[in-house]
Amino acid sequence: MRKVAHIIFVLALALGAIFIFFPNLYKKTGQEIGFLPTTVGIQPYGNVKSTEMDSVKSAIEKMYKREVIILPTLDLPKMAYTEIRYPRYRADSLLQWTAEHKPDSIAIVVGLTNQDISITKYKEGTREIKEPTWMYNDFGIFGLGQVGGSACVVSSNRLHKGVSDKTFFIRLNRIACHEVGHVLGLHHCPTQSCLMNDANESIKTIDKSTGVLCDKCAKAIE
Ligand SMILES: [Zn+2]
Ligand SMILES: [Zn+2]
Repeated sequence: MRKVAHIIFVLALALGAIFIFFPNLYKKTGQEIGFLPTTVGIQPYGNVKSTEMDSVKSAIEKMYKREVIILPTLDLPKMAYTEIRYPRYRADSLLQWTAEHKPDSIAIVVGLTNQDISITKYKEGTREIKEPTWMYNDFGIFGLGQVGGSACVVSSNRLHKGVSDKTFFIRLNRIACHEVGHVLGLHHCPTQSCLMNDANESIKTIDKSTGVLCDKCAKAIE
């Protein structure tokens, strides 16, 4: 009897040792943690800092309760490159490319770059370029997301200027969460304090924003 107890004790010690030396052997899956089934992938393009990837990852996990994984870095696709006004990347082309190259196992992909991205801005409800056309023909933006689609893109390029690291990361997280909100089906929201208010596309209002979704938007994506 003592011999059996001894064997059990040794086995328990060995098992404990395995988990001490290999703590990642048993990782809880997203669903066990209570995340919703949608898996989000962050797709870094070029030299995105790991601190930026990690920051966006935890911000999306926290706000949307979805599992977020970081995909292996890719080069920015040449097809999105433009020199219309400056050398940079067209956000709509990059978004398209990102959606087309999304791994099947992932529902939503967030393209992340430190390069400047731009779009053409049109007059509300038309295909006429906003005035002045020289400016809106190729207009620099922070992010772009497909409403109810599968991808969005976020650029950190315009977020550093004259601010602390802390402010930079708050801006980056808010923009990423705003764009993911679009992908989850949210349109712009009239509630001023809501993260989905379209004023959240200007840096001043991003800084002033509460950074959270209003109750209506939060409910809509539950
Ligand atoms: Zn928006
Ligand atoms: Zn809202």
